[in-house]
Amino acid sequence: MKLKRKSAGPSALIRPLVRRLKAYVPGEQPKTAGFIKLNTNENPYPPSPKVLKAIKAAVDGRLRLYPNPTAEPLRRELARFHGCSAENIIVGNGSDELLALATRAFVEPLPGPAPHSTNSTSNTDRRTVARSLVQYFVPSYSLYPVLADIHGARRNPVPLASDFGLPNLGALDHSKRWNWNAALTFITTPNAPTGRGYSTTELEALCARIKGVVVLDETYVDFAPENALELALRHPNVLVSRTFSKAYSLCFQRVGYMVGHPELIGALLKIKDSYNVNGLGQVAALATLDDLGYYRANFRRIVKTRDRLREALIQMGFEVCPSATNFLFTKPPRFSAADWLQRLRERNILVRWFDLPETRDYLRISIGSETETDMLIRAIRDILEPAPRRNVRSQNV
Ligand SMILES: *Cc1c(COP(=O)(O)O)cnc(C)c1O
Repeated sequence: MKLKRKSAGPSALIRPLVRRLKAYVPGEQPKTAGFIKLNTNENPYPPSPKVLKAIKAAVDGRLRLYPNPTAEPLRRELARFHGCSAENIIVGNGSDELLALATRAFVEPLPGPAPHSTNSTSNTDRRTVARSLVQYFVPSYSLYPVLADIHGARRNPVPLASDFGLPNLGALDHSKRWNWNAALTFITTPNAPTGRGYSTTELEALCARIKGVVVLDETYVDFAPENALELALRHPNVLVSRTFSKAYSLCFQRVGYMVGHPELIGALLKIKDSYNVNGLGQVAALATLDDLGYYRANFRRIVKTRDRLREALIQMGFEVCPSATNFLFTKPPRFSAADWLQRLRERNILVRWFDLPETRDYLRISIGSETETDMLIRAIRDILEPAPRRNVRSQNV
């Protein structure tokens, strides 16, 4: 009997698409204490005492039970809050889960190995590939291309205007890249990592022309002067995505939601995991909605710190994009952005740097507490003008 050829190893057992896949890279969560974390846009302030109390009170023998499968009490409260019905809302394991569900529900995967971009396609092709197209502006949230890749869909990255504003409709009409028929278009608003806010008027003009589904990812909207939630209730192809993570200090609990037409929401509900939202997360989010005053005070505080840091950075020679979020996107002077990342890290300050052509000259700095911001400003001054050694020593006595 012939000897069986030795198997090619476990890697041969993995779908080629998954083997080739480059996973999303989340910002670093340091393993040791002592860092000032300004790299993942977490809220510098803790959840409200009422939320902590509610979570602690829920930790008992009930942990053996499954949570409500659709987070119904939370759905109802969110509906009341947004002036819509529970059928307009789906709750997810963070909004990232819902972005992935939207990709699976609305985008047709390509048959066979997926070509990664639409660079060389003709006009007729463009129409036929539209149903496999995941479209988004660059720079924006770096998860969108990964979701397209995981699903075996086509990515369609479209450049923002040079000031990171939305291109106007005419520019998009003339652009070879933009596709009004794309199955799914993600728009981060206000945008990340640039921080720019977009007006509801310009978003509505876009949404009204787009034939496919549009997800307005409003992760940072609580720090912005306006929101576009009404578009999800006015346009049947628009979903607005929100999260308790950043503005509501609940990253750890993983609760996000989408608002939109009951038929789109129903499609997402059909394909979600049975118990997708953690029970303690549901408790925490419900308690959050009961203490919004606490969070609104935090938003004001963070916005104030953001505007103060922006001024200080400009004074020190940084270019700083206008921000409607809890972070600043800034082009540093003197050294490269990658160099700044390292120099700040040496001083135990973590910020974010994205190594893409559109973003590699910039740092994204999350807004920390007032003290953390003071320490950041001091560290930057020190990098720009290192204090003579004896000064450092005399300051320490
Ligand atoms: C952080 C972030 C999310 C994910 O939020 P979760 O609800 O924690 O999953 C989605 N979109 C953008 C733009 C983000 O920055």
